Amino acid sequence: MTERIQKKRIFLSPPHLSGEEIHFVREAFESNYIAPVGPQVDAFEQEFAEKVGIPHTVALVSGTAAMHLAMRILGVGPGDEVIASTLTFIGSVTPAIYQGATPVFIDADRTTWNIDPELLAAELSVSEQRGKLPKVVIPTDLYGQCVDLDRIREVCVPYGIPVVADAAEALGATYKGRQVGIGAQAAIFSFNGNKIITSSGGGMLASADRDLIEQARFLSQQARDPAPHYEHSQLGYNYRMSNIVAAVGRGQLRVLDQRVQRRRAIFDYYQLRLGDLTGIQFMPEAPYGQCSRWLTVILINPAQCGTDREKIRLALENEDIEARPVWKPMHLQPLFRIKDATGKESKDSDIVGSANSEQVSARIIGGEVAENLFAHGLCLPSGTAMSEADLDRITNIIKVQF
Ligand SMILES: *Cc1c(COP(=O)(O)O)cnc(C)c1O
Repeated sequence: MTERIQKKRIFLSPPHLSGEEIHFVREAFESNYIAPVGPQVDAFEQEFAEKVGIPHTVALVSGTAAMHLAMRILGVGPGDEVIASTLTFIGSVTPAIYQGATPVFIDADRTTWNIDPELLAAELSVSEQRGKLPKVVIPTDLYGQCVDLDRIREVCVPYGIPVVADAAEALGATYKGRQVGIGAQAAIFSFNGNKIITSSGGGMLASADRDLIEQARFLSQQARDPAPHYEHSQLGYNYRMSNIVAAVGRGQLRVLDQRVQRRRAIFDYYQLRLGDLTGIQFMPEAPYGQCSRWLTVILINPAQCGTDREKIRLALENEDIEARPVWKPMHLQPLFRIKDATGKESKDSDIVGSANSEQVSARIIGGEVAENLFAHGLCLPSGTAMSEADLDRITNIIKVQF
């Protein structure tokens, strides 16, 4: 038998503890607050609000729950359309669908990979002529890159359409010198296990609008009206974050700046080692902001080199290294029955549709840019606990493919 050193699997973006979490968790245990709500939750909300510069916050079980409450409070319901980027994680849009709304997906901008603000402007002008404006616009700050929020607001505000920022991937990123999400009607964040910081699972809804957050807090705890017995006049949810989860989140929040620095350094290191290869391109950084580089993402152009995205992904997987394709665009997901601009359903989705009675109607505006990014884009391991030796192992495997 050949001697082989057992190397540990390198994951895409695993949790990275600071060591301070246990201190807050112990506090929670010693105070016997092993429950949803409690002093850790209050402290986490306050510390988070200070960190991101958005004054009102409510801590929830997930980013998806935060988005759901935002949709509910903004009145999204059956017959409404909501606009989102097609290049996103599905948690951006499932909450609007829970509310019975129809998603309209917009293509990505080639220079930022985020929702294309000019396509958005064109779509709003067409929908105004049709007499049916979307209820909400949900831009995603993809892989830690802020959307051009000023431009998106400039497009939406004249129509009175609220913007809900999906900042789940961009905690710690900045836009024109300010923290991500500031200026949106509401912003959602996620502390899922793969995000830049994690509470073991959780989310936050943040807004400058105190009423919106107070309504969300009310709905997240089963909408209990003030009374000695249990009295309900509205439909609520069990979405509140637990005190223990908040304790973990507090320990993580303390190292957020270090984590952003390290993610950016990992991106720079990949670029230094791989940037000269012909046929490889890195996700651009928009000039108006600082990306958190939650994930380092590359594009492989098979026409310029002897390899492609899948070959590189499989070469890494073969060495027990996890890399993943860029998000599959929403308009390509079999969940959706896509209509084009004229309202006709595309042929492909008819075929899938006959096999899938759960399909949800949706529309797509453009789509080629996102399709191209999905076809050639690869997310590289970006965990902040990785060593330089780990990074060298990864880059060496990639280099020999070229
Ligand atoms: C992770 C993520 C979410 C959902 O957050 P959860 O906490 O996992 O529910 C939503 N949108 C985007 C873009 C995400 O990456």
